Amino acid sequence: MQVPNEGHVAVLAFPFGTHAAPLLTLTRCLSSSAPNLRFSFLNSAKSNAKVFSKIKPDDYRNIKPCNVDNGIPEDHVFSGHPLEAVELFLRAMPRNFENGLKEVVANTGTKITCLFTGFVLLVCGRYGGRNGRSMGGALDCLAVFCFCPYVHRCIENGDQTLDFIPGMNTIRAKDLPEGKLILPSQKDLKSKLKMVLNVGPFDLASPPKSYSDDSGCIRWLDRHEPASVAYLSFGTILTPPTNELIALAQALEAQKVPFLWSFRDTSKLHLLEAFLQRTSTQGKVVPWTPQLQVLENSSVGVFITHAGWNSVSESIAGGVPMICRPFFADQMLNSRLVVDIWQIGASVEGGTFTKSGTMRALEIVFSSEKGKKMKENIGVLKAKAKMAVGENGSSTKNFKTLLKVVSG
Ligand code: UDP
Repeated sequence: MQVPNEGHVAVLAFPFGTHAAPLLTLTRCLSSSAPNLRFSFLNSAKSNAKVFSKIKPDDYRNIKPCNVDNGIPEDHVFSGHPLEAVELFLRAMPRNFENGLKEVVANTGTKITCLFTGFVLLVCGRYGGRNGRSMGGALDCLAVFCFCPYVHRCIENGDQTLDFIPGMNTIRAKDLPEGKLILPSQKDLKSKLKMVLNVGPFDLASPPKSYSDDSGCIRWLDRHEPASVAYLSFGTILTPPTNELIALAQALEAQKVPFLWSFRDTSKLHLLEAFLQRTSTQGKVVPWTPQLQVLENSSVGVFITHAGWNSVSESIAGGVPMICRPFFADQMLNSRLVVDIWQIGASVEGGTFTKSGTMRALEIVFSSEKGKKMKENIGVLKAKAKMAVGENGSSTKNFKTLLKVVSG
């Protein structure tokens, strides 16, 4: 095997939620277009094991997974708080990434020529230097891929719109992630950063060749009428609270909507036991679905989602309108985009699932003029996304530029 020798790209991943997987997808696209570059993928051991287990070694020949300290002390007893591991990891930063970078430089004997990250950059180009150039040289080729470029700014009132940021006048303060953080618009970012390159969605550009469907979801969907099924999933981290799960189940049963539900939290499955017995011919509850393929199946008419970014983007790729119930982080902003700006989905009255609010949202998507318009709008957005990743599309052009930047 030829040893990559024309540069060393260190990719720093955030190991929670579905952050690392799309960053690895992008890294794989870059690495297959630049086989002479060496890529080191720095991430926690747990997340690395998860994301690399889903791809074949032949698909990442010049990418090496490198584990960094997750910040969890040896004798640590978890309290059960969902964000505890995140807190510990953040506390271990940037030292854990700095140590990881030192290690990959020592192990490979190759300096880092480009630092690439999927979240706010906390580690600066201290380990760079191309062909013996100084730290400053490394900073020149620092490619910051901003999935979440946050800028601190105080806001007094949740309903205040962000009209002081170009292009953000339709976003309200309360749509933003917690902690009064602001996601600048693309226009604003362009004025602040030297280069802003929007790329993707990669699943549209090169759809995965295979998928596993242990629960037979696609076979089940194939038996249903076009646009008749409600698909439910709340991503990889959260499960809605008990009262909302019950309300959701009641609404699905009352509306007699066929449903496919990705339900990961087995400790809460007993809450739905009686409902599942009554609805065994109406719906299917499984621990995991091949979501991309589910959303591309013509029988799916609505996606009930927490509005995680990957889910939103996959729903657009499938042309499926959404019912959004955001919980935290960027989900409120994504939901606002889906419901009010792009008009490709509905929210639930009051912001939480109740039986009547969910029934109303289902009615809107399935049987109203507004729902029909949502379907049209999402079709237009899907076509735009397809065009972006097409031969002369903006994503394809940006990707080529990114490749040049990363290659140094
Ligand atoms: N996913 C899946 N099958 C499931 C549930 C989730 O394939 O049954 C995938 C989904 O396709 C998406 C990711 O998990 O790519 C969830 O990412 P998202 O950003 O929506 O939510 P997060 O898990 O980060 O909260």
